[in-house]
Amino acid sequence: MKTRLLLSAAFLIVALQCATSNASLIIQRNYTAGSAPTMAGSGNLTSIFDAAADWWELAYHDPNGDGSDFNLAIEYKWAALSGTTLGVHSLQSEGGSPHRETGALIRFDNDGSSSWFADATPYENSEYNNYAEFGSDFGGGLLNTGRVFYGATGDAAGSYDLFTVALHEIGHALGLSSANNAFVAENGDLDIDVTAGGWDGGYAGSVLNTRNGAHLGNASDSTDNVRYTDALMYPSVTAGQRKYGSAMDILANAQISKWHNPNFNPQFSSNRVPEPGSIAVWSLICLGAIGRRNRRRPRG
Ligand SMILES: [Zn+2]
Repeated sequence: MKTRLLLSAAFLIVALQCATSNASLIIQRNYTAGSAPTMAGSGNLTSIFDAAADWWELAYHDPNGDGSDFNLAIEYKWAALSGTTLGVHSLQSEGGSPHRETGALIRFDNDGSSSWFADATPYENSEYNNYAEFGSDFGGGLLNTGRVFYGATGDAAGSYDLFTVALHEIGHALGLSSANNAFVAENGDLDIDVTAGGWDGGYAGSVLNTRNGAHLGNASDSTDNVRYTDALMYPSVTAGQRKYGSAMDILANAQISKWHNPNFNPQFSSNRVPEPGSIAVWSLICLGAIGRRNRRRPRG
């Protein structure tokens, strides 16, 4: 009897976890075409894209502040992209109130010019030996500005992380897009002014620089850029590095698209992470991380 009660309690906990992870931002994923390039790692684009979309759904789990859903449809595929571009987002449709992108096309480079790491286990980060977080105050209080894994091993070493680029491109579809009328309206003064509302998370008063196109950061001021280069929505990524969205990335899109009650530190549920023990090797701050910035490549 006692055993049965314990089992029931265990099932209840599992059920509650499932209930809380039901995202009401719903990113519809439609993989359409293209052939995968030769990649390091045994993962594939569809499972990696799924993980990236799941992560953003966790960030905006209550998009309207009332438990109702919001649907964003994303078509994605492999395609030959010019130069060293790794990925490109294109707005396909937008509208509604609050104004949001409703349809997107995302393409990933398959012309062989980029060496991809396709993680077979994108829900965990055991391929990276080190982790660092960064923060800055842009007027609304100390804000996390970067969550970066580095010290890549095995297949991840020296290649561009397809999961990171998927997170970045989906991030464009959620607000930071020069084709999105809400972004254009907000970005007239080349920054995002965080205003009080259900989306600000207590960071109202922050001013986030967007002089780098529909990205975070300042293309013309290398000093100012020091505070932005670790953001997911900075326009380039480094080989052998994995970036998650920082609180700043989540806040910027929340302000543009009025995503309510944002979760500033989304975590995949433990049943999707085969090796939760690897979290123990994380370190919070690493000032020595500056030397790792080389071989950056642009993202669209
Ligand atoms: Zn971009």
